[in-house]
Amino acid sequence: MKKRILVGPFKQLVPMTGLAIKGPISDGDLTLMQDAGILIHDEKISTIGPYTSLLANAKDVEVQELKGDHVCLPGFIDAHTHICFAGSRANDYALRNAGKTYLEIAKGGGGIWDTVTQTRKASQQTLTVRTRKLANRHLKNGVTTIEVKSGYGLSIEEELKILRAIKEANETISTDLITTCLAAHMVPKDYQGNAEEYLSEISTSLFPRIKKEGLTNRIDAFIEESAFSSDDILPYFQKAKEMGFDLTVHADQFSTGGSEVAVRFDALSADHLEASTEKEIELLAKSNVIATALPGASLGLGCGFTPARKILDAGGALAIASDHNPGSAPMGDLLTQAAILGAFEKLTNAEVLAGITFRAAAALNLKDRGRLAKGKLADFCGFHSDNYQEILYNQGNFKPCMVWKKGELVFDKHKH
Ligand SMILES: [Zn+2]
Repeated sequence: MKKRILVGPFKQLVPMTGLAIKGPISDGDLTLMQDAGILIHDEKISTIGPYTSLLANAKDVEVQELKGDHVCLPGFIDAHTHICFAGSRANDYALRNAGKTYLEIAKGGGGIWDTVTQTRKASQQTLTVRTRKLANRHLKNGVTTIEVKSGYGLSIEEELKILRAIKEANETISTDLITTCLAAHMVPKDYQGNAEEYLSEISTSLFPRIKKEGLTNRIDAFIEESAFSSDDILPYFQKAKEMGFDLTVHADQFSTGGSEVAVRFDALSADHLEASTEKEIELLAKSNVIATALPGASLGLGCGFTPARKILDAGGALAIASDHNPGSAPMGDLLTQAAILGAFEKLTNAEVLAGITFRAAAALNLKDRGRLAKGKLADFCGFHSDNYQEILYNQGNFKPCMVWKKGELVFDKHKH
């Protein structure tokens, strides 16, 4: 017998339905339901409607009746993180803010390579525990789906260790972890060869093992002067595409080129885009590629934000993710960062919320979440308020008090 649960009443429920994947959204376009209930059957939503009538018809249903005013939103989706790592880069942060350059920090033993060294030393078990801990922190903040990349192993065996750690963490927590292989993060310093040879080895030897073990269906690459050129990545992505992988790109962070590759390969998303010009914005807006802004990296590095307003006005699809990583984005607070991006880029509440719900789901090719409607996963959160505008207005300082994942109440602040 499958479990049926009725949750409510929510003073205000924002289902994020009836909104386009691309282009601007005004707050007036949002559907706002008053005194609503959610009927859950097994892991999914079976009905959303007026709480009193759902309650009147409830037979063999467990009722979770809420006290006080609550606003209900879909569970948030963080479509870009690097939370499987060891070590800390607190010293990099201090040096950067003391005026040291990227090269000076790298020469002094910092940078991505430092995290690679620490992560290689860590066991799979250690990485699993750390990833689980960070994912649970996100869950308490309302994030019910998190993308997690490898990319701190940079050899066949070390990348496999990280991908297995993420898989293992996913199997033991409520949050869904969506794994991505980012073996193309940088050319490993200890690799005896050039970028082309490294990528060829990865695609020939690692890709089949990833497929065989069912570790992920997603391949990412960092296209940047300090990492890989577009020309390096073309054959790599060609191979990945032939093998049926979905693609995503770290694009246009400091220099352009990556978003063009994303569009050419029909990637699911192009992420970063801080350096994108009118040309790249136009290109992305005409494509089906989701443009993912990473305000956490701008905050960590003290750089400008992704031109989110321009992307939306050009007709593009904007997702917002935390980029949670030990180097450039240590904060890892999606709601705070999305609210800040909204203030700087003049995004409506609707656009910011779309960026961390259904538009983020599209960046991960997940059709079963990101909106609250019949048949979707029962992933949602409740905020102590009667007005959804209070959430972003508080710029991340106002967190959900309750979080449901696949119909199960997995976080309840009242009990802590
Ligand atoms: Zn990243």
